[in-house]
Amino acid sequence: MRQLEEKILAEGTVLPGDILKVGSFLNQRIDTRLLKAMGVEIARLYEGCGVTKIMTIEASGIAIACAAGMEMGVPVLFAKKHRTSNVDGSVYQTIVHSFTHNEDYNVVISRDYLDASDHVLLVDDFLARGQALEGMIELVHLAGAQLTGVAIAIEKCFNGAGDALRRKGVRIESLAMIESMTDGEIVFRS
Ligand code: 5GP
Repeated sequence: MRQLEEKILAEGTVLPGDILKVGSFLNQRIDTRLLKAMGVEIARLYEGCGVTKIMTIEASGIAIACAAGMEMGVPVLFAKKHRTSNVDGSVYQTIVHSFTHNEDYNVVISRDYLDASDHVLLVDDFLARGQALEGMIELVHLAGAQLTGVAIAIEKCFNGAGDALRRKGVRIESLAMIESMTDGEIVFRS
């Protein structure tokens, strides 16, 4: 998506550890015109695919998920990150390791909000090593729901997780695909 790529080039900063900082338009301050355009693009990509629910993980995926959900007219469900394990069995849960924070989270959703009748589109801000996405896929499977596909704002292709999941048959649409960020120079996949 040209508009997003241009914004990344204009305002993104490459931090040590191959982290792309996009706080000025996506992760802290949100460019609402760009957000709306991303929602429109995700809705276009998955038009006619029978999506019944969009799912993400708190917190940074929620805005993009809502932008897409409003365009597609479907509810948005966000998994919560808990430090403690849930004991009463009312949730589906899995563990996700965050490389950016070097921490493990229990990621949970209530059993009341996802079931076997659902066709789920997973949405997130970044796809890097794929831990967050694999956690969400696990939750979809635990609920017996169908995974329709994935929409990501920014994929760091050099981490390889997106292509590995595509080879397994998962449909992943990324609005900006970064092939490399060596020495701070951002190169997109063409
Ligand atoms: P993964 O689980 O695919 O390794 O990472 C996905 C999550 O880590 C995203 O939801 C995002 O919050 C965070 N993340 C990974 N890489 C980056 C990055 O380069 N910049 C920012 N801002 N967040 C990232």
